[in-house]
Amino acid sequence: KSSVMWFRRDLRVRDNPALLAALEEGTVTALFVLDPALWKGAGPARRAWLSANVLALAERIPLSVHLGDPREVVPRVADGRRVHVCAETTPYGRRRDDAIGSQVDLVPTGSPYAVGPGLVRNGSGGAYQVFSAFARAWREHGWPEPAHTPRSPDLAPADSDQRALDMMEAAVADAPFDLPGAGEDAAWRRWREFRDGGLEDYPTERDRPDHDGTSRLSAYLHLGVLHPRSLLADIDTGSTWATEIAWREFYADVLWHEPASAWHDLKPTLEGMRYDDPEDAIEAWRTGTTGYPIVDAGMRQLLHSGWMHNRLRMITASFLTKDLHVWWPVGARHFLDLLIDGDVASNNHGWQWVAGTGTDASPYFRVFNPITQGLKFDPQGDYVRRWVPELAHLPGKAAHEPWKSDVGYEHDYPRRIVDHADERTEALERYRAARA
Ligand code: FAD
Repeated sequence: KSSVMWFRRDLRVRDNPALLAALEEGTVTALFVLDPALWKGAGPARRAWLSANVLALAERIPLSVHLGDPREVVPRVADGRRVHVCAETTPYGRRRDDAIGSQVDLVPTGSPYAVGPGLVRNGSGGAYQVFSAFARAWREHGWPEPAHTPRSPDLAPADSDQRALDMMEAAVADAPFDLPGAGEDAAWRRWREFRDGGLEDYPTERDRPDHDGTSRLSAYLHLGVLHPRSLLADIDTGSTWATEIAWREFYADVLWHEPASAWHDLKPTLEGMRYDDPEDAIEAWRTGTTGYPIVDAGMRQLLHSGWMHNRLRMITASFLTKDLHVWWPVGARHFLDLLIDGDVASNNHGWQWVAGTGTDASPYFRVFNPITQGLKFDPQGDYVRRWVPELAHLPGKAAHEPWKSDVGYEHDYPRRIVDHADERTEALERYRAARA
C-alpha cells in the first residue's frame, strides 16, 4: 500500500506527525506543489526563502516538486491514493483544502501550531478575545510530545517537474540579499544558539533592536522548518519566550474564527474613520526616507534583509497609520510582500493591534512617538547607524535627531515629511470624529 505526503507549511522531516501517519501506510510519495497563485503574490526574497527551504528538503528526502494549481496537481499525483497533510488554517489554505478534499481522501494530522487553531475555547465554547486569557487556557490545554519521525524515512523515488525546480533554483539565485541558512539543520543550529545563548536574557533584551536579542526563528516557524512544539519541549513553557509563541498561536486562532479579519477590521471600533492615500508619503515610508531615523532604519532593515525587529514593526506601523493616516491593510500588504516570515495571521493582526482595530488592540489614541521610541530602544543610535548610512557620522544618540546637529543633513538625509506633533493631533481628531 502506498500514500502521498503533501508538504506545505511543514517543510521538515523531524517531528512531523503527518509524515509519520503517511509512513504507517507503507511507501510514501513526498510531494510539494509550487502554487502559481501564491508565487505571484510574493516578492523575490520570499520566493527565494521558500525555494531554498523546499530545495533543502529535497536534498534530505526524495521530494517530487510540481508546478500548478494544487486542485489539479494533487488529485493527479495521488491517483486514487490517500493524501496526508498537516492541516492548513489560513482562509486560502482552508478553501483550497476543502476543494481538494472533495476529490481525494485528504487526511490532516496536526497543524503548524502547538495547539491547533479553534481548539482553545472559553467557558462558553467560544473564542478568546483577550490574549492573556487565551495564553492561560492555551498552557492548560497543552500539546502532544514531539513525534518521532525516522531520520531517513522509506520514500518512493522523486519524480519532479523540471520547470518547478528551475523556477526555484532561479529564485534562490535571484535572492536580493543574503538570507539565513535554509533547511532543518540550519534552523536547529539557530535554535540551539538562541536557547543556550539568548533565551535567559530574552525578557530584557527582546526590545533592543541594536542588540539582536531575539531568536530570529520566525521565518523557519513560518514554513514549518521547525515546529513550535519541538521548541516548547526544550524549554520552560512558563517563560517569556514561550509567551511569544502563544501570540503566534493566538493570532492563528483569531484568524481561524474570523477569516475575514485577514483584510478587514476585526472590530468595528473605527467604523467611519477617515483615511488618506498620500502616494508620495507612502513611498517615502516604503523606501525608508521619511526623515524620522528610527522609522527609516526599520523600513530599510525590511527592504535590505527581509526581516524587521518587532519593536520596529510597531513603530513603523504606527507611523503609517497614525502619522500618515493610512488604513492598515496598505501597510500589511507591503510587509507581506517583503518579510521572509510574512504570515497573514501574525502580520495582519499585528497591524490591527497597532491600528486599534484588532483583538486586544493597543487603543487608537496610543500614538508611538518616533523620536522618543528611538531614544528609548536604541539609546546609543547603533541600530539607526547600521541601516541609515546618511546618519553614520552622527555619534551616539545624536543619530536620532539630525535636526539638532549642524552637520545632521550633510550626507543628504531627507528632511521630515510630516510634523509628528501635528499629525498626532490630527489622528486624535479623526479618532474622536469616528467615535462620535
Ligand atoms: P522572538 O522574539 O524570538 O519570538 C519568538 C517567536 O514568537 C517568533 O519567531 C514568532 O513566531 C512568535 N512571535 C513573537 N512575537 C509575536 C507577535 N507579536 N505576534 C505573533 N507571533 C509572535 N511575526 C511573524 O512571524 N510574521 C509576520 O508577518 C509578522 N508581522 C508583524 C507585523 C506587525 C505590524 C507586528 C507588530 C508584528 C509582526 N510579527 C510577525 C510579530 C513579530 O514581530 C515577529 O514574530 C518577530 O519579530 C520575529 O522575530 P523573532 O523570531 O526573533 O521573534
